[in-house]
Amino acid sequence: MNPFSYSRPATEQEAFAALAEPGASALAGGTTLVDLMRLEVMRPDKVVDLSALPYAKIETRASSIMLGALASNTDVAYHPDVVAKLPALADAIRSGASGQIRNMASVSGNLLQRTRCSYFRDPASPCNKRAPGSGCAALEGFTRMHAVVGTSNDCIAAHPSDMCVALAALDAVVHLKSKAGARTVKLVEFHTLPDDHPNIESVLQPGELVTAIEVPTTPLAAKSRYVKVRDRASYAFALASAAVALDVQDGTIKDARVALGGVGTKPWREALVEQALVGQPATQATFEAAAHQALAKADTRPDNAFKVPLARRVIVRTLGLVAGGAK
Ligand code: SF4
Repeated sequence: MNPFSYSRPATEQEAFAALAEPGASALAGGTTLVDLMRLEVMRPDKVVDLSALPYAKIETRASSIMLGALASNTDVAYHPDVVAKLPALADAIRSGASGQIRNMASVSGNLLQRTRCSYFRDPASPCNKRAPGSGCAALEGFTRMHAVVGTSNDCIAAHPSDMCVALAALDAVVHLKSKAGARTVKLVEFHTLPDDHPNIESVLQPGELVTAIEVPTTPLAAKSRYVKVRDRASYAFALASAAVALDVQDGTIKDARVALGGVGTKPWREALVEQALVGQPATQATFEAAAHQALAKADTRPDNAFKVPLARRVIVRTLGLVAGGAK
């Protein structure tokens, strides 16, 4: 492992200064960073441990829930208000990783977790995300787990998070803070597409911290679900997943949210599917017709073309669960 310095800022101001230094990486639960340092995929000069900052609180407000950046995935997934008011989020977090990892992993770490592209995690392979300008081994490689939307000529890595798919569907907002002040960014605008800079994955700036994620507690969100299809029942990343929220009144869909995981280079909101649902009867025929709009611009390869029909079926299944109130 590369030699590195370690610091544990006691205040936000100390953290801003430490994270603004070149070669600095933030440490929260460590479930991504420590793995990648052991593999020498990430080689920070300075590890900045954020665990002393007061960001672990989960706070229920009048119309939202604030998830502190350092709250553990387990604490969020089993919080009574999250379970009751944001069921898709609870489902999504519980479907990710393992119990031990969820106990350590934080909200901000989940938000900022790195891709599971096997070439990214192998320092012997060319990878524009790990070593900008070195190429992309996946383009001519095995791509079963790779993205089919949001891809570029430089990177086709899928975003790995389950939590972020639910947050995208539930209109979550990321709260950020730096020496310059505080700002908010919609979750769907937080992650960036790879384009010609796959090493840049979000709008987070050097010296800036994620302090919390705010999730509106709407009637729509209270009727939301998350379904994930994967190669094994536990500790596996999504082949395709869907987070869905519906407002159905007198059998007609008044409002809808649909986001996909496992298929995009970032959590993937499906506006066309949502538009196709609103105003229609909440029936299987509507769900199938709307789901057919998903991934219309998919850029598939022989290994991952199956994700398009799979994702559409996952959308139909999740819509059915929400509309039917099934457990
Ligand atoms: Fe690297 Fe992206 Fe290519 Fe994977 S898909 S090897 S992460 S550039």
